[in-house]
Amino acid sequence: MEAARPSPQKASEKSVDKTSTKGSEQMSSKPNLLGELRKSGWSEARIAERTVKDELRDNLLQELSAGEELFPGIRGYDDTVIPQIINAILSRHNFILLGLRGQAKTRILRDLVNFLDAEIPVVAGCEINDNPYRPICRACRERAKTEGEALPIAWLPRAHRYVEKLATPDVTIADIIGDVDPIRAAKGGHDLSDELTIHYGLLPRANRGIFAINELPDLAGKIQVGLFNIMQEGDVQVKGYPVRLPLDVLLVFTANPEDYTARGKIITPLKDRIGSEIRTHYPASVNEGIAITTQESWTHRDGRNIEIPPYIREVIEEVAFQAREDKRVDRRSGVSQRLPISCLENAVSSAEQRAVRNGEKTAVARIADIYSAIPSMTGKFELEYEGELRGAESIARELIRSAVGKAFTKYFSDTNLQSVVQWFEGGNELKFAATGKTSEHLAELRKVTGLFDHVAALGVNAKDDAGLQVAAAEFLLEGLWAHKRISRSEERGFFAEARKAPEPRDVQSRIPRRQFN
Ligand SMILES: [Zn+2]
Repeated sequence: MEAARPSPQKASEKSVDKTSTKGSEQMSSKPNLLGELRKSGWSEARIAERTVKDELRDNLLQELSAGEELFPGIRGYDDTVIPQIINAILSRHNFILLGLRGQAKTRILRDLVNFLDAEIPVVAGCEINDNPYRPICRACRERAKTEGEALPIAWLPRAHRYVEKLATPDVTIADIIGDVDPIRAAKGGHDLSDELTIHYGLLPRANRGIFAINELPDLAGKIQVGLFNIMQEGDVQVKGYPVRLPLDVLLVFTANPEDYTARGKIITPLKDRIGSEIRTHYPASVNEGIAITTQESWTHRDGRNIEIPPYIREVIEEVAFQAREDKRVDRRSGVSQRLPISCLENAVSSAEQRAVRNGEKTAVARIADIYSAIPSMTGKFELEYEGELRGAESIARELIRSAVGKAFTKYFSDTNLQSVVQWFEGGNELKFAATGKTSEHLAELRKVTGLFDHVAALGVNAKDDAGLQVAAAEFLLEGLWAHKRISRSEERGFFAEARKAPEPRDVQSRIPRRQFN
């Protein structure tokens, strides 16, 4: 999922593996002239009329029947999004992915490159990758006439056949489609199908490839009209001049669902021409989320042994799930999968920092490290008004606490932890520095009656690495705090409210409060 890190490099790496299946068997002796091309596997009959959508369809069918994994690295969409994308491609549709942030939309679009031929022949030097048999730009048409079978051919690798643009309100027709020099146009009396005066924009440069526009609703209406005209007729007006551009492009888009359906954001004829609307989604289960986060996060750090206990992964993932459900978090923008990914990376760094400072060989991530990772989380959700009042950091803390509570229940719902609670109720407190030595930390924790009898539920025992034991014990205490069975504060660490103390609330309420003035 958008678990981002989309990599165009990946596409080109993959292109090496798959060349043999993609009709470029002749790569060793690639034709350089039109006459040679004609006699090769890239005959006129085969590719003159073949569109990029035909090409994607053919290759996809081949991969489907070979039973290949179509979107390696995209998880959780096998039964939902991927079959719909396959249908869209088989239907030769332009399509849009509708989803909230961090749902792998952009990554899926970039991965479409893998269904293109490894390389295709183009007219050498053409700005818009003209098909050697059917050039559309004026310059190539003239060259084809004068050079005939000696027209030079170049080979375009698929990684170069994907063009992407983030829509913003200031994107212009000139950016997307192109610009004309009106003075030259007027002087020459050109009918402006004379494209010699055109400076091509991004879309013509994506000719014979894939053109992706992210956040389509942010594109000005005028440009949407231009896109529609290109899709519909291959005609478009630039500065009032009609320009004929019968481009061959797969158009793909992304949008936030609410923006896309909001009245007036997308011109109706364009919407009508988008063949399929495909809804993306967040991982359906915590385990699915963990699989994505594990795949996408950078946790194998050089040299040091890093342990991430399973309950730590669960808590981090659960934070994202809680945030997506939280009323104080803006649901329309969503909570990206990048939140748990960044959080895990930052928590691992916190563990790494502690281990390096203390000269310890193994770094074990703990709940405290998740709290230390709050700076990696606060920018990844938008708050509603009520949330704004509390502040992103407080909200993040509450989310972590509640996520700990949920994970804790999974492991300890049947466990009697009364001995631990009683130890605190007996007036004991436990506080340690977040960056302290693991061995000292462990010694402190061992004082708590019964604490280490219970960490076995986490698969941890006394023979394990001290870091694992500390992390497990700390999780247990954090869980008790999340369920309000003990207390915790910055100053005191873990403690229990004195149970029979005489009405401390009354004492407090007698302290005169400072009024606003
Ligand atoms: Zn050309």
